[in-house]
Amino acid sequence: MTQNKPAAELPATPREYSALIGDRLIPAAERDTLKRRDPGHNHLVSLYPKATAEDLAAALAQARKAFDEGPWPRMSGAERAKIMLKVAQLIDANRAEFCLIECLEAGKPIGLVDREIGGTIAHWEYAATLARHCYGDTYDSLGNDALGMIWKNPVGVVSIITPWNYPLMINSQKVPFALAVGCTMVVKPSEMASGSALRLGELLLEAGVPPGVVNIIAGTGADLGEGMCTAPEVDMISFTGSTAVGRKIAEQAGRTLKRVSLELGGKSAHIVCADSDLTLAAEKVALGFTRNAGQACVGGSRLVVDRSIAEQFCEDVKRHVETLKIGDPLDPETTMGPLVSDVQKARVESYLAAGEEAGLARWTMATEAEPNPHGHFVIPSIFDDVPVDLSVAQEEIFGPVLAVQPFDSFDEAVRIANSTPYGLAAGVWTRNIDTALQFGRKLAAGTVEVNTFLAGAPELPITGHRDSGVGHERGRNAVDEFTELKTFMVQLGTPG
Ligand code: NAD
Repeated sequence: MTQNKPAAELPATPREYSALIGDRLIPAAERDTLKRRDPGHNHLVSLYPKATAEDLAAALAQARKAFDEGPWPRMSGAERAKIMLKVAQLIDANRAEFCLIECLEAGKPIGLVDREIGGTIAHWEYAATLARHCYGDTYDSLGNDALGMIWKNPVGVVSIITPWNYPLMINSQKVPFALAVGCTMVVKPSEMASGSALRLGELLLEAGVPPGVVNIIAGTGADLGEGMCTAPEVDMISFTGSTAVGRKIAEQAGRTLKRVSLELGGKSAHIVCADSDLTLAAEKVALGFTRNAGQACVGGSRLVVDRSIAEQFCEDVKRHVETLKIGDPLDPETTMGPLVSDVQKARVESYLAAGEEAGLARWTMATEAEPNPHGHFVIPSIFDDVPVDLSVAQEEIFGPVLAVQPFDSFDEAVRIANSTPYGLAAGVWTRNIDTALQFGRKLAAGTVEVNTFLAGAPELPITGHRDSGVGHERGRNAVDEFTELKTFMVQLGTPG
């Protein structure tokens, strides 16, 4: 794969993006615009064409027509795979540009974001293999005069709604998998980071995805959400975002009986046992709550640690946190950037205040220089001995804040880890495979990582239990998400 060094500068003028509806790219200049300021400097970096109600209707109609009449659902898996691999190659060829977009719009450190783009490409490549492996089943065992067949057909038109924290990555956990099985779609990225999705739209056309199969529009959830979730043209909603919005979407989908897949919030715990590789664990725990400035759904925001080692272990975690270089996301040396917005910063600060009001001891990383005061920076903090019922232990903060919760026994560790309404991910650190698997059995989490964290692969599904979601995405299982079954019962010969 090629790897270009991005031009790490703030743009003198904002970049204008185009929406994709059918075969038409609609430039920002043709619509009212949504304006995006970069979170590191508060500098205007992007203009998106704000979709009108007519744009939404046109996008839905295009997706419906492409599904009902167009070539995409009817072509062979091999043909679809070829086009999808071309998309992967085009993302790779434009890798530096995508790095810069994600850096400017989401505040991701420019020196780290390339890994995400690499992961994105891997998702397209993997999903292309599924296009050739989407097939049903045959029952040839129902008697001499009967044959049963089960076909897997694409579910139809999918409304895809995504968040800002991993913009291109999360779109790439959905779009190629839906494409692989022959679905068509309308995609609405977050209004705070739409650039990479809109640019992807241009590449999809270039790769040969037929017009109308993927339509990408920019707008807020308030303006476009209900239409995308209730329109008769839509068969399924695939949503990643907060649990609060996920509930609303589920209600709307319930009224109109659409299939939903919801990847929602989390409050993931690392369980650290005394027998683990404590050096590695400390490094990963530090990374787990500060990666992407703590704005990761699976981020390890709770440390459930054996009390006998808790004090020393927390010191080690702090030492790792102290090595972070917090600052300008455009600086290649930076390892932690700002939060995405002033609203998000205020939200995180309100949790810091709540923890202090509750009398918790709080450690904050020492910083040499104040990051840019125009940016939305929050310095990492660790709260000690957090009771399970406090908001900082229960709610998703989505910032670089760690709640430490010591345990004295296996059962207590499980109880603490499972004490939130969420069930997204968990980390277990131990050298004892039996302990690891026993924890794995008991933990309410869609993903359990053992002696690693924030790993994952396109082959492995993401699934949220409890308030963290409904359904799953990625992996082979994505075929089931985006297909529906059709059963054929065939009488062979004349009934006797
Ligand atoms: P959000 O729920 O505010 O917004 C997500 C998307 O939904 C955006 O595109 C937004 O415009 C849209 N939206 C908002 N209101 C809507 C409505 N009423 N109807 C339809 N769409 C609407 O989430 P966010 O702040 O963008 O992202 C952060 C959240 O996403 C966190 O809770 C995080 O845990 C979650 N997340 C989950 C996963 C996962 O895989 N489980 C991955 C990444 C992020």
